[in-house]
Amino acid sequence: MSSPDNLAGAPDLAYREGALVMEEVGVAAMAQRVGTPFYAYSSAYLERRYRAFMAAFGGEALLCFAVKANSNLGVLRHLGRLGAGADLVSEGELRRALAAAIPANRLIFSGVGKTEAELGAALAADVHQINIESEAELSLLSEVAKRVGRTARIAIRVNPDVDANTHAKISTGRSGDKFGIDLARAPEVLRRAKELPRIEPVGLAVHIGSQITSLAPFETAFSRVIDLLKALRSEGIALTRLDLGGGLGIRYKDETPPSVEDYAALVMRLTRGLRLELAFEQGRWIAGNAGILVSRVLYVKESTARRFVIVDAAMNDLMRPALYEAWHEIVPVAAPESKAPLAAVDVVGPVCETADVFAAGRLLPPLAAGDLVAFLSAGAYGAIMSSGYNSRLLVPEVMVHGGEFAVVRPRPTYDEMLAQERVPLWLL
Ligand SMILES: *Cc1c(COP(=O)(O)O)cnc(C)c1O
Repeated sequence: MSSPDNLAGAPDLAYREGALVMEEVGVAAMAQRVGTPFYAYSSAYLERRYRAFMAAFGGEALLCFAVKANSNLGVLRHLGRLGAGADLVSEGELRRALAAAIPANRLIFSGVGKTEAELGAALAADVHQINIESEAELSLLSEVAKRVGRTARIAIRVNPDVDANTHAKISTGRSGDKFGIDLARAPEVLRRAKELPRIEPVGLAVHIGSQITSLAPFETAFSRVIDLLKALRSEGIALTRLDLGGGLGIRYKDETPPSVEDYAALVMRLTRGLRLELAFEQGRWIAGNAGILVSRVLYVKESTARRFVIVDAAMNDLMRPALYEAWHEIVPVAAPESKAPLAAVDVVGPVCETADVFAAGRLLPPLAAGDLVAFLSAGAYGAIMSSGYNSRLLVPEVMVHGGEFAVVRPRPTYDEMLAQERVPLWLL
């Protein structure tokens, strides 16, 4: 079995005396208490990643955790207490960040389609920065800001026309993508922004995609944005902030993403002497390998051609394989014997969709009904994308902290599920 960086000797997830342990808590014990499936996140891993990122920049950066990667209040509160800010893409995420007591001066509001109400909420909260993605949005923001008597600090998110060489569905920086304002148009937009009432242009922002595993696309994109920033400064638009987005990739299987030290060295080389406040919006890099999805084997079924391991988690709990053909390492919670033979199996969920396949032809040690398995690297874009498809109960989340754990999103009951809906009066 290959080992993502959270099983390669890191203390947060390891086999101890034959059983998978997260920090000091046995995964089987959590399953006993919470039931399966459930997500578990390691506080220690999150903390180590946050500190490693900050250390790479000598503490001179604002790391706004991309809330869309994992928006659990416990996770946000934990990162916020360490000093992280938050990158938001909706009013819901703004409310989560505030509920997690992350200070407004560490909040960046991103997103290509913010509504008038959302812009109003961001102004009312007095967020650090609003990233503007179109001229129409800029005009609307100025109108809303005038009405509420607040000044909006804005960055223009530019589209640098760079291919991030990642999955097409998570690439955001090519000129045909819906994100940002074309590099060539950006100066015009900034000149206009300077004249608009209640708008204070403070910087530029860029985010070219997610799960980027080489430095080259970052270097091209950042260089273009920095050249633009210098050109704008030379014409008297004194921008002081640079938001370089997120997107730093992680290891799921055998990827070799750049180290955070190399990433930071690149950024520091490109920005040397510019006296810029740097902000980042990493999501996956912080949380991806902090989490696992724990599931129980329901049945093992042999067909002529294949062996199916049917588990109690499904595509509604972890969508990444169905949506992005993503690979998640699967490990048994009880350590397999070292000589256990590996056999190719299809690990599938109970949902009535052929897409509900976590892994096809995966080499795994023997598994039987009742065994627990963990899907690794599930801390980002996992629980947050879950749904109640097939009327399955929304998957719960657990946070581990040393020797203790807490359920940070309980599994709803069936009554709670039904109470979300109404039968219209004419049918009563
Ligand atoms: C999704 C997103 C991020 C986070 O991306 P990661 O790959 O998880 O780091 C950051 N900024 C913006 C604008 C995003 O849309």
